[in-house]
Amino acid sequence: MPVKNLWAVKVRELKETEARLMERREFKERKLKCLDCGATFVFSAGEQTFFWSKGLAPPKRCQECRLKRKLTIVREVPNEQ
Ligand SMILES: [Zn+2]
Repeated sequence: MPVKNLWAVKVRELKETEARLMERREFKERKLKCLDCGATFVFSAGEQTFFWSKGLAPPKRCQECRLKRKLTIVREVPNEQ
């Protein structure tokens, strides 16, 4: 393969990597409103990266309400038996 073509491939690879990095950099701290208590909570860049990597939708509730729901679900299971 001529050197020129190799360069073209390399440049394209670099551009693709850069585009991917730019995509990641878009994860900025966001403020969301909780569906349950109406409080504003921070959806951090780290959390967004995690949610994004798992293909999950952003959370609708604050951490406290999410925890409460989780505890409620756990508590409800023995009652149903
Ligand atoms: Zn809440």
